[in-house]
Amino acid sequence: MNYLVVGSGLFGAIFANEAAKKGHQVKVIEKRDHIAGNIYTKEVEGIQFHQYGAHIFHTSNKVVWDYVNQFAEFNRYTNSPIANYHGEIYNMPFNMNTFNKLWGVVTPAEAKEKIDEQRAVLGGKEPENLEEQAISLVGIDIYKKLIKDYTEKQWGRSCTELPAFIIKRLPVRLTYDNNYFNDKYQGIPIGGYTQIVEKMLDHPNIKVQLNTDFFDNREQFEAEADKIVYTGMIDQYYDYKFGRLEYRSLKFENEILDEENYQGNAVVNYTDADHAYTRIIEHKHFEFGTQEKTIITKEYPADWHPGDEPYYPVNDDKNNGLYQHYKDLAGKEGKVIFGGRLGMYKYFDMHMVIAEALSLTKKYF
Ligand code: FAD
Ligand code: UDP
Repeated sequence: MNYLVVGSGLFGAIFANEAAKKGHQVKVIEKRDHIAGNIYTKEVEGIQFHQYGAHIFHTSNKVVWDYVNQFAEFNRYTNSPIANYHGEIYNMPFNMNTFNKLWGVVTPAEAKEKIDEQRAVLGGKEPENLEEQAISLVGIDIYKKLIKDYTEKQWGRSCTELPAFIIKRLPVRLTYDNNYFNDKYQGIPIGGYTQIVEKMLDHPNIKVQLNTDFFDNREQFEAEADKIVYTGMIDQYYDYKFGRLEYRSLKFENEILDEENYQGNAVVNYTDADHAYTRIIEHKHFEFGTQEKTIITKEYPADWHPGDEPYYPVNDDKNNGLYQHYKDLAGKEGKVIFGGRLGMYKYFDMHMVIAEALSLTKKYF
């Protein structure tokens, strides 16, 4: 069987690897000039530079963790971002350190009492949007200082128009624990992420063609392949026949600085409306770097227009409804499989993409 895999990100690479191991011939086409999709990293000034934004691996799924550890050794990095609100510094995610700094409370019981008092404004109503969900989780003060402006910058719309699930990604804890994730396993691959995809694609049955867009030669690619695994935008695959899905894009502003330590942490979120960027990443701190220079990236959220990178699907009701039409069509395809964050239009983290790809290939092969 000949497989054509469109996209060399994590999903495409896992599928290619599993198909190749089963003896199939696989061609991977990638429109960028490098493999690995958004997890691509490269070495700059001796530092692993995350070109498409900070990527921290975390999972509670042992199968996924063991799988990814075949391709790289992970360090002990634990994500503990801090939030900068008009120069005031708070620990993230929302935990006793945050509550203590904000309200002076010391015990979990005091923090709980304060949050209960603040969420009373909702009058016991079931949260229906991100604003209500946030107030219900952490109260009005934290919503105003650490959530509202950040979220509205990130998504370009009011918190009252956003789905509640986005904020439920973040833990709320009544312990003094600044770990951003609740997962059992976490870390950054020593030597970067690109090696993971490189090793997946390094198989005699796999050919990789960079700088190749599926839509530039669609008929030819379709004719050549017995099966296609498509990890690009699903609405583009169907020529937007039901209308365009919405995405959120980002602009990254990178600087190499002649100093050793710019901000003392890998991730600093800017949660006020005065800064147009949402966060500054200092890449060396993901790997405890001691180089003389440092690289920082300011991350500016942006509206998505055709031709921009579609970094985030906008999984609100309107777009999920539209996606359902495309998904119904996809379900009827005999020759094409849709996968990954763009092919399935889901806000997947890396571990979820791996779990999806492994479950698909297990069923499929
Ligand atoms: P992608 O990596 O997007 O790969 C798709 C590939 O297909 C791309 O290389 C693209 O160029 C190619 N392609 C698309 N269309 C075509 C076409 N027509 N022809 C040829 N090639 C095409 N996850 C975490 O677990 N932890 C994190 O900390 C984290 N941080 C993130 C930060 C940011 C800013 C972003 C945007 C994502 C983050 N993620 C994180 C999510 C992670 O990036 C994704 O889960 C993962 O990269 C998705 O892999 P994929 O293969 O589905 O998609
Ligand atoms: N968020 C926030 N303040 C922060 C960090 C995150 O309000 O300081 C909200 C925001 O709505 C964001 C969501 O939490 O979209 C999820 O954050 P996460 O860090 O998981 O987003 P990602 O890394 O995927 O951009």
